[in-house]
Amino acid sequence: MDLQLKKLKKMSEIKRKLATIERISEIHPIEGADAIERAVVRGWNVVIKKGEYSVGDLVVYCEIDSVMPERPEFEFLRPRGFRIRTIKLRGQISQGIIFPLTVLDSCEGVVESHYPHHTTINGAFHDLQPGLDVTELLGVTKYDPPIPAELRGQVEGRFPSHSIKTDEERIENLRNIYDEYRKHRWVAAEKLDGSSCTFFIYEGKFGVTSRNLELKESETNSFWQVARQLNVEEKMRTYMKENGLEALTLQGELVGEGIQGNKYKLKDQNVYFFRAFDPIKYMFFSMQELEMILMSMDLADNMVPVVDIEYTLPENFDDLIKFADGRSALYDTAREGIVFVSKEANERYQGRLSFKVISRKFLLKHNT
Ligand code: ATP
Ligand code: MN
Repeated sequence: MDLQLKKLKKMSEIKRKLATIERISEIHPIEGADAIERAVVRGWNVVIKKGEYSVGDLVVYCEIDSVMPERPEFEFLRPRGFRIRTIKLRGQISQGIIFPLTVLDSCEGVVESHYPHHTTINGAFHDLQPGLDVTELLGVTKYDPPIPAELRGQVEGRFPSHSIKTDEERIENLRNIYDEYRKHRWVAAEKLDGSSCTFFIYEGKFGVTSRNLELKESETNSFWQVARQLNVEEKMRTYMKENGLEALTLQGELVGEGIQGNKYKLKDQNVYFFRAFDPIKYMFFSMQELEMILMSMDLADNMVPVVDIEYTLPENFDDLIKFADGRSALYDTAREGIVFVSKEANERYQGRLSFKVISRKFLLKHNT
């Protein structure tokens, strides 16, 4: 969807009354169920707890697609992302959700209530009448379906030979040189679970690659979309001019909706950079230089989260594996692991000695 269309869609959505005052017009039993019954509100069938409401009650009704605010009274909806959907209970379709008027009490701006007749909202007196819009008052927002990522795209060519793919070796395969590695100090960066992404400018040309292939520019491809959204090409060109570089490669992890289950619960897609490379010198920049580069490109927020800027590997190998366990900096979820980059590898390994440690907790959680 192009930006203009997105904006128009947003504008039309604001008008939707998701939460309103309504009167329950009917209540019916549900066959075979004694704890719940079916209420009718406007044209909607809503399953309610038996005995909680009567016909004629004024209530707050929230339509499907409502996302309730994170407040104690809506906590029970957390497992469903606070989202109201169409559900089926004992064979009865239920759409929307009903709350007693007292749910308004904890809203900011509600001063005095005389239910069921009127209430004072933001200093103004309101008759509580069916149809009164309380969407904003309650803090209800609309659920927007995720924009699926399009990761494949049309192939422009193979991964360019002027740059290096983003693979990392697992520490479990490096045990024999563990003692050697203990002499280094390491930058520990969170390993994000997304899709590898490379942006380069080489011989004047800006290119975008997925893990193994260069991709043709397109409006729908997620790698290209993020590149354009963040203005990466322009920022790279400016940085190169200012710093006398002929070529530059930035590599990061593309994360977000439609990618690896969107574990960080992001909107759309975004990229977090974990390394920068100079294709002319055929050398990596250090992690500190990467941070500086991103800062001067105004992309500091797109640096991969750094867990420790100077980490020494523990004597006990197993303690290192445990160190990989933890919470992500992007969202309260198990992190995938850590990528360690040596601070002392400046002339060797194209300037970048590194390895990955995947969290066992993460692997268990995601059944892999
Ligand atoms: P396997 O080794 O089993 O084939 P894999 O090919 O999926 O696993 P990963 O385990 O994903 O590889 O590890 C390497 C990838 O991790 C890189 O290609 C990169 O896309 C991604 N990655 C995420 N975060 C980072 C980070 N902070 N530093 C370096 N790479 C990262
Ligand atoms: Mn991966």
